[in-house]
Amino acid sequence: MKYIINHPRFKKKYDNNLKIQEKFNDSKINKFPIYDKNYFDFFTNYASQNYRLNKNPCLCGVENDILLSETDRHYVNFNIVVCKNCGLIRAEKYYREEDVIDFYKNFYRTVHYREDYKDKTPEDAFLKQKKDSKFKFDLIKKSSKYDLQNLKIVDLGGGAGGVLAHFDEKNEKYLFDFYDPYLNFAKTKGIYSVKGGLEKIDFKPDIIILSHVIEHWNNFNEEIKKLIDLQKENHTLNYIEFPGIDSIKKGRREGDVLGDFHIPHVYYFTSYVFENLMNRHGFEKVYIDSQIKSVFIFTGRKKKLINYYNKCRQDLFEGEKARKIQIFKNLIKFFLPAKIIHLISKVRNKKIKF
Ligand SMILES: [Zn+2]
Repeated sequence: MKYIINHPRFKKKYDNNLKIQEKFNDSKINKFPIYDKNYFDFFTNYASQNYRLNKNPCLCGVENDILLSETDRHYVNFNIVVCKNCGLIRAEKYYREEDVIDFYKNFYRTVHYREDYKDKTPEDAFLKQKKDSKFKFDLIKKSSKYDLQNLKIVDLGGGAGGVLAHFDEKNEKYLFDFYDPYLNFAKTKGIYSVKGGLEKIDFKPDIIILSHVIEHWNNFNEEIKKLIDLQKENHTLNYIEFPGIDSIKKGRREGDVLGDFHIPHVYYFTSYVFENLMNRHGFEKVYIDSQIKSVFIFTGRKKKLINYYNKCRQDLFEGEKARKIQIFKNLIKFFLPAKIIHLISKVRNKKIKF
């Protein structure tokens, strides 16, 4: 298969020569892929022995892909393709439903998988989520035509429930997720905590938060139907957030799209491909940016497919340019003595451009 960007890092394989790879990573000249022991061991041992991969067809229904990468950001073999019929970037194959459930229930939030190797306490997770999520609350507040009081607010896949902490106690707050220690902690904060996903919600919420959730969906068409069933037409606000591919060219991940690829993510959306996908299902955007933070409302008016392949390809190429510029900057840093770097950063702080 032809590659969209023919660069060796997208074809890299882990070669057991760990010392050299770690040294290379340490240099910060080329960042990805980065070896991560727990992650790598989990997917190459447990997952490859116990899970099975199925074909993962494009959401536009057409099979016309070009290969973007054969590795994820941690050296695990994982094919990422771009659809030439719509511009959606996705995993070429994905695990079965039962594998995905096993993964999120037993591994995702534990030392077996997490990159930082440490087990966070539920309280740590809750407080960190709260600290990092004020902007979500602000955006929801800005997008809402009504007061954020006496509402039913759902955080789907909301971890320990820290995002809900920003909302007034006069609201009914609900958390749906799969990891018991976090769910139990959220209960102590006045949050109704339920183990499960969209299928467990038996009422129509006023606000649904899906932060870093949709890119994990292994069965998008079924999940979006369930989401639509929960909507109050022209009323429910859906806050949706995930890493947008169109912000790579602006320097996110130091311009390297490979830094976004990891097995829990099935989809890698650009803002425009995502907006069109939601439009095709009857959602209208209230707000969206390239990061992506977005708010959608369900109107039921479905729009047509727009093929954004060329735009997406252009964004990936521009990302490559940003990455090369960053490598050059990193090289300079690498060879300059620490004293000079310190001096430069001092000068930069005085708003003089380096
Ligand atoms: Zn497609």
